[in-house]
Amino acid sequence: MTNLASLGNGNGEEKKSRLSIYIFGAIVIAILAALVVPKYAAQFELGGEIFLELLKMIVVPLVVTSVMSGILGLGDVRKLGKPGGCAVLYYLSTTILAVVVGLLLMNLIRPGVDSMEQTALDEAAQKGGKKSAAREKIVKSLEEDTGLEQGEIAEIFPQLKGESKEVSSILKNLVLMLFTDNLFGAAAQTELLPLIVFSIIFAGMLTTMGSRVGQLTTMINQVNNALLTFIMLLMRIAPIGIFCLVAGRFGEAQMKDEFVAELQKVGGYFVTVVGGLGIHALATLPLIYWLLTKRNPFLFIRHMLQAILTAFSTASSSATLPVTMECASKNAGVSKRSTEFVLPLGATINMDGTALYEAAAAIFIAQAIGMDLTLTQQLIIAVTATLAAIGAAGIPEAGLVTMIIVLNAVGLPVEYIGLILSVDWLLDRFRTAVNVFGDSVGAAVVDRVMTPGSTQSKG
Ligand code: ASP
Repeated sequence: MTNLASLGNGNGEEKKSRLSIYIFGAIVIAILAALVVPKYAAQFELGGEIFLELLKMIVVPLVVTSVMSGILGLGDVRKLGKPGGCAVLYYLSTTILAVVVGLLLMNLIRPGVDSMEQTALDEAAQKGGKKSAAREKIVKSLEEDTGLEQGEIAEIFPQLKGESKEVSSILKNLVLMLFTDNLFGAAAQTELLPLIVFSIIFAGMLTTMGSRVGQLTTMINQVNNALLTFIMLLMRIAPIGIFCLVAGRFGEAQMKDEFVAELQKVGGYFVTVVGGLGIHALATLPLIYWLLTKRNPFLFIRHMLQAILTAFSTASSSATLPVTMECASKNAGVSKRSTEFVLPLGATINMDGTALYEAAAAIFIAQAIGMDLTLTQQLIIAVTATLAAIGAAGIPEAGLVTMIIVLNAVGLPVEYIGLILSVDWLLDRFRTAVNVFGDSVGAAVVDRVMTPGSTQSKG
């Protein structure tokens, strides 16, 4: 019988690498199976779905208890100021760097120029237009049925909101995302930001109450530890779960001709964005890591590999969060103090990959439809892509939705999203992997800045 207690003990370098190799092998075999026998590969979807649900199931309690336990460990919420400021500074600067890489590459390579025939453009616009037309139809009929105004309807069904062009209103929406009038509602919708805000305030308050809340404090820490052990248990089935996830989704795509065939159509765009993501993940972030921690960034990548591969397989930073926390603290030796606070926040607001992709996709659409963008427009794209990425949830293809903000801001027709729709599911995996890696570098950097003598990623 499995001895659960042993799961809590140090895994050993060899075991860690073996698990990463199994997960990597599972992904490669799953992709090959999807290409060769897509019908059979697609059958594994159910197994993938179960693994994903198991991961997602613990995200909300994990975020709440880990943020609380992080604050309780600090002893005083005021001590959060420096690491908090440091984390936000890191998030913003790396996101901006990612956007710059995306913009530069798209302007240099120009994969969109003359890449599409008019008929392909029309077809794509029709595909993309269907969604927004459907949304307008629903809003109209709700307006007629209920007598409510569009704004009021959007309050009840946020998905029906028409995105605004104004940067000020984007900012307002971002600020509002921090709060909720119903904690349980936010938990049920996996809206992590209001839960993080609540956890910080609540745990901060607990630190001022001393022995009166001693048992509650102990309980929060114990629940957090139990959840971390649960994640280790889950990681034991990760190679199987990840095989099912990848085989199921790639098999389905291959059956619908969305994989190889669609990739060929927009190959230039795809390769450029993946190239940009590669530069960010293998040059920019490692350089920042090395400059600020003076440690080997490639060893750090190795330590975070399970999380990076899980992100690729799930296309969700939130669902990957348990694995990211496990890898950062157990494999890379980042202090709990830093992982408990920096990673949950990062999974929600720090999305370098998404920002790079949103900027690149907007430029690609402009190039494909022959619209020349001025420098100011490119600047607006950079700013709105940064904000849109902050606002995107850590779930599959959230970036595609918030990209409407970027397109609206420079007057690009939203329906041309259809141009990139068919390969977005695949690109999403690459950008999610970069998002998660960016979060982990953030945790390591904040940790190092806060505690210069820490032992992370010594190998
Ligand atoms: N899927 C991404 C994530 O979870 C968000 C996106 O770019 O769509 O990080």
